[in-house]
Amino acid sequence: MMPGQWRTGEVAVVGLGRSGDAVARLLRAHHATVYVSDSADTDDLRRQADALRSTGTSVDLGHHDLERIARATTVVVSPGVPPDAEPVAVARARPVPVVSEVEVALTFLTSMQYLAITGTNGKSTVTAIAAHVLRGLGVHAEAAGNIGAAVSWLALQSSPPDWAAIELSSFQLHDTPSIAPVVGVLTNLTPDHLDRYPSIDAYYADKELLFRNASNASRWVVNADDARVLEMTRGVRGVVQRYSAQGRLSDAFYDRQGGELVVLDAPLMSRADLPLLGDHNVGNALAAALAVMVASPDFRTIAGRQRVASALRTVRPLHHRLETVGVFGGVAYIDDSKATNVASAAVGIASMVRPTILLLGGKHKGEPYTPLVDAIRAHCRGVIAYGAAAPLIMDDLGRDVVIEHVGGDFERVMERARQLARPGDAVLLSPACSSFDMFTNYEARGQRFARLARGTVR
Ligand code: ADP
Repeated sequence: MMPGQWRTGEVAVVGLGRSGDAVARLLRAHHATVYVSDSADTDDLRRQADALRSTGTSVDLGHHDLERIARATTVVVSPGVPPDAEPVAVARARPVPVVSEVEVALTFLTSMQYLAITGTNGKSTVTAIAAHVLRGLGVHAEAAGNIGAAVSWLALQSSPPDWAAIELSSFQLHDTPSIAPVVGVLTNLTPDHLDRYPSIDAYYADKELLFRNASNASRWVVNADDARVLEMTRGVRGVVQRYSAQGRLSDAFYDRQGGELVVLDAPLMSRADLPLLGDHNVGNALAAALAVMVASPDFRTIAGRQRVASALRTVRPLHHRLETVGVFGGVAYIDDSKATNVASAAVGIASMVRPTILLLGGKHKGEPYTPLVDAIRAHCRGVIAYGAAAPLIMDDLGRDVVIEHVGGDFERVMERARQLARPGDAVLLSPACSSFDMFTNYEARGQRFARLARGTVR
C-alpha cells in the first residue's frame, strides 16, 4: 500500500541515476505526481529524461528547483546522492520527510524476502555471491543495489523475485526506516567517507541503523575478525552468527590447515575450489554462504549444503576486483582497478600467489603509500609507479622496495610491465589511486589494462 502523503502532493526524486529512474517509474505506476532533478546534464541523462517525461514525470537537468523540492510531500534520495547535498539539506530543514529509493521500493515489495548487506568493504562481492548461491538453491533471486538491479526495478516487475540480496551503503541505511531483512550482514567497519560525514562516529551510527528494527526473530551474520563489528553487535536483539576468514572458531570459518571452509559445524568445501583470490574473498564467501544458510532451514539441509557448495565453485569475481584477465606468455594479468585506495590495494597485493609486478598510480587521494611496504616486500618482484601520483609514490616507497617510475601513457606502463614479468609471474593493477588523471573512471582503466594485456590494442 502506498502511504497517503505520496498521493496527496508531489514527490521529489533527487538524482536521476538508474535508481532514480526506477523509483520515479514505480511511483508513477502507482499514480503519484513525480518531480525528478539532477545537477548533471549529459547526453545520456537527456535521453533518460525524455523517456521519463513520456510517463508524465517532470524532470529538470542541470539544476534542482529547491523551492519545488521544499514544497514536496516527500523527498526520495538516489543512492549516489550524498546526505549533505543541497536539495536534501533543504528538505530536511523544512522538514520534508526524506527517504531512500530502497525505502520506497520495499513498501511495494511486501512478499519478497531479502538479505541486507552492509559494511565498509566487500558489500558488492557478498551481495553478488549471496544472490548466486540463492539461485544455486533453485530460488528466484536477484542481487540489488549497487551491483544489480535497483530495488525499485524489482518492484516494477510483474513477478518480483521471491528473494533478493540487497547491498546498502551507510547513506541508504540512514533513510530506510523500515529495513527488516530476514538476515542482515555486516562485513567490516573501517574509517571511510570522512569527506561526507562530520565524524567517524556519525558514519558508524548510520551503519548501526541496519539493526534499527531488530527483534527476537532477527538473524544477523557478522565478521568475527573485526573488533568494531563485534562491539556494535554485542547485545543486538535476535540471533547473531559469526564468520571468520582468520580461522576463529565460529559459525563459519576458514580452516587454513585443512584447506576447508567450515560452515555450521561441518566442512562445506575445499578452499581450492573457490575461484576467488585472497583471504578477504574467503571471508566474503563465508559471509554469503552463512547468511543464505541461516535464512531458511530449507537452505541448510544436506542437499541444500551441497547446492550451496556447488554454487560457490562457480562464483566469478566482479569486474575489476582481482579479476584475472588471462595468462599470456605464462604471465597472469590481474585487474584490480576498483582498488582506488591504499587499504584495498593492500588487500589486493596480499592476495597474490605468484611473484608480482605491481602497477601503482593514478590521481593521488591524499593517503601515504608507506602502509603498502610490507605487502609489496612479501609478494612483489617489482613495482611500477605511473600517472600523476608517481612522484609521491616514489618518495614514499623508493627507499624500501624495488620500484621504478614509468612516465608517459598507460601503453608504456604495460610495455614495461611485460618486460619485467617472467613466466610464472603476475602483473597486478591494484593502483591505490583514483583513475581520473588518465581515464574517465576505474572501469575504463580496467578495460584498457585488459585490452593491453590481451594484446588487442598496441
Ligand atoms: P564494496 O561494495 O563494499 O565497495 P566490493 O565488493 O566492491 O566492496 O570490493 C571493493 C574492494 O574492497 C575490493 O577490490 C577489495 O580490495 C576490497 N575488499 C573486498 N572485500 C573485502 C573484505 N571482506 N575485507 C576487506 N577488503 C575487501
